[in-house]
Amino acid sequence: MARYDNLLANVPTDLWIGGQWRKSSDGGRFDVIDPATENKVASVASATVEDAMAALDAASAAFPGWAAKKPRERAEILRKSYELIMRDAERLAKLITIENGKALPDSRGEVAYAAEFFRWYAEEAVRNIGSNTLGPASGARIFVQHKPAGIAVLVTPWNFPAAMATRKIGPALAAGCPVVLKPASDTPLTMLALMPILEEAGVPAGIVNVIPSRSSGKVVSAMLHDPRVRVVSFTGSTEVGRKLLHEAADCVVKPAMELGGNAPFIVFDDADIDAAIDGAMIAKMRNMGEACTAANRFYVHEKVRDEFSKKLTAKMAGLKMGNGLDDGIALGPLVNRAGLDKVVELVDDAVQKGAKVLTGGKLPDGPGFFYPATVLSNVSDDAKLLNEEIFGPVASIQTFKSEDEVIARANDTEYGLVAYLYTKDLSRGMRVSEKLDFGMIGLNRGLVSDPAAPFGGTKQSGLGREGAHEGMMEFLETQYVSVAW
Ligand code: NAP
Repeated sequence: MARYDNLLANVPTDLWIGGQWRKSSDGGRFDVIDPATENKVASVASATVEDAMAALDAASAAFPGWAAKKPRERAEILRKSYELIMRDAERLAKLITIENGKALPDSRGEVAYAAEFFRWYAEEAVRNIGSNTLGPASGARIFVQHKPAGIAVLVTPWNFPAAMATRKIGPALAAGCPVVLKPASDTPLTMLALMPILEEAGVPAGIVNVIPSRSSGKVVSAMLHDPRVRVVSFTGSTEVGRKLLHEAADCVVKPAMELGGNAPFIVFDDADIDAAIDGAMIAKMRNMGEACTAANRFYVHEKVRDEFSKKLTAKMAGLKMGNGLDDGIALGPLVNRAGLDKVVELVDDAVQKGAKVLTGGKLPDGPGFFYPATVLSNVSDDAKLLNEEIFGPVASIQTFKSEDEVIARANDTEYGLVAYLYTKDLSRGMRVSEKLDFGMIGLNRGLVSDPAAPFGGTKQSGLGREGAHEGMMEFLETQYVSVAW
């Protein structure tokens, strides 16, 4: 425990409601585990439905004041939030590593990315543009304005404990909405640690409320059935997303859903292979593969398969695995036992169906939920890992012969979040991009996440977009006034 003491000494562990720390109404708490050691690092209050209602009361009371603030005032608070997060970046990064397991360089990257949503939306808050046009037949003035939609319930996953939340809080606050956030139970500490920072930046009491809970289903459902809630913004699995869409239907709550992915990574025979390897390492290994954007299926043209496989294997084998807090570590543990078991099961299944292990594939001794960087070739079409999110450091390589064939195989999934492709021929790159049924394309790039870009998927990868101007529209209602003057 000693190595955590300084880091965890001042981390709050209660519920943040109405600008105050509170115990749960029934006194319930749950443990947070460090996945590198399997040690308990904190005990966090577990919100009840009663606590969730108290959070809605606080949000409701704070809403009119926040919505009435001038956009510039909201923008300055967001900008200050960005600056204070960057001031505390190292502390927050270490906290992410402790509760999520990712290596410190990954956590530092996440904190910078997370903070950027406050900077971007500080700039966007003042650009809430409406319009005024003339009805062609009626002659009436069509006056269009955007108003804060109301209280937003935010539900976030454990894989980016900071960024998946700030990607929602930033635009909600810019739009003038208060929020109640339920972070993932594996990683509640980062968001709790953010609350004093937002308070220092000037976010008023009740505008951001954080209620970790072991009773996610009950607590979120109760909030979605309260008529004060107007938006639900969820990031997580498609399975839970579907449930929340059903829940949201009862009170017709506006949904924004960032769900699962099954990203293809296509390497054409004219690609710059070294660039494709660099891109593959990011697309596959950012967050140890625990990302919705993670390259899940590598399709490599048969002419460059050997070169690509050899170079990718060398890079993957060179990654140092260990406790993410230690120097030089590139690969931390997976988040929990269930995540590890799933990766083991998917690799075993692929190997049984004929895949060849080029590196990795062997479970190390414990403690910790570690899985080595693994490359599989000759993966058969019926291997489960081609249809499910691997969510681990495993690259699975298949080959293809023609453009049409690879487009059809890439699109053959219920998901449509992101696809990557490498080619030096930009006209082919654009032609193929247009035919890929995915919300985002990395064309000669292994990273698409950018606060200034509309992040989101097609098909069962979600509804709506986060980031960019589009991200703020999720928290606004459009009102049109038909005017005669
Ligand atoms: P998850 O199991 O769906 O959980 C996500 C959140 O939903 C957690 O806060 C969880 O709380 C909560 N939750 C679970 N069941 C619920 C229910 N019945 N009602 C209300 N809330 C409920 O997903 P995860 O395992 O944390 O995250 C991994 C998934 O997220 C992957 O599928 C990944 O692709 C996806 N993801 C998508 C994006 C994107 O932008 N598209 C980004 C990151 C991750 P508890 O922790 O208490 O269970």
